[in-house]
Amino acid sequence: MDRFWRRAGARLVQVLFGGTFDPVHNGHVMMVESLLRAFPTATVHVIPNHQPLYRACMASSEHRLAMLKAAIDGKSRAVVNEIELDRSGPSYTVDTLRVFREQFGIDESLVFCLGADAAGAVDQWYRPELLAELSHLCILNRADQRVEIPQSLSAYRWTDDLCEMREIGRGLLAFLDSPNVPVSSTVVRELIAKNESRLPVPSKIADYIRQHRLYQDA
Ligand code: ATP
Repeated sequence: MDRFWRRAGARLVQVLFGGTFDPVHNGHVMMVESLLRAFPTATVHVIPNHQPLYRACMASSEHRLAMLKAAIDGKSRAVVNEIELDRSGPSYTVDTLRVFREQFGIDESLVFCLGADAAGAVDQWYRPELLAELSHLCILNRADQRVEIPQSLSAYRWTDDLCEMREIGRGLLAFLDSPNVPVSSTVVRELIAKNESRLPVPSKIADYIRQHRLYQDA
């Protein structure tokens, strides 16, 4: 498989995985690892969203960024990309993908990735019908979840062959089965507020949260 992706002239692939990461947890780390395995020559860009500061119980962008960097430290080909933190205002995925297109060119394969729960809510996004013109879409199915493809994503053509995403730059939709890690940032924040000592996050993230006394009032 690796050799197939690396053959002469093989197109590079940029994988994008966005989220609030408030805080990053074991489910996110598993997702990054699944993407690195599934796209063996890709760079995986982990992209923290810009968030309005008025949202209660939120850690600052600086804290979210520091935790995310610590969580993926040492995973070669995974990078934290600050593109959305550098922009003021809301993080629209179509804007982020347009910047990637400008940076990497019209032919580069861009793969935008989502968890199944997030994919189910895409109809409420800003201009989701434009996504297929800009990127492929990879939906990570947790073991017990299957998502109906929302109407706004109907321009995508489904494929069961991830390698096809290297051959063309955009417009394909694939599912990737991933282990079920039943955790969310909401649950992590609630556990912290209840003073639970065991958190479903990497140990260095638990240390960081304790050291900075984050999420105490969640
Ligand atoms: P919150 O509880 O605050 O809504 P969250 O845990 O869903 O947060 P996000 O940062 O909003 O985390 O999610 C970023 C991406 O990670 C989304 O695509 C989401 O579907 C995916 N994701 C979140 N938790 C998991 C998990 N346990 N397993 C796989 N994917 C996940």
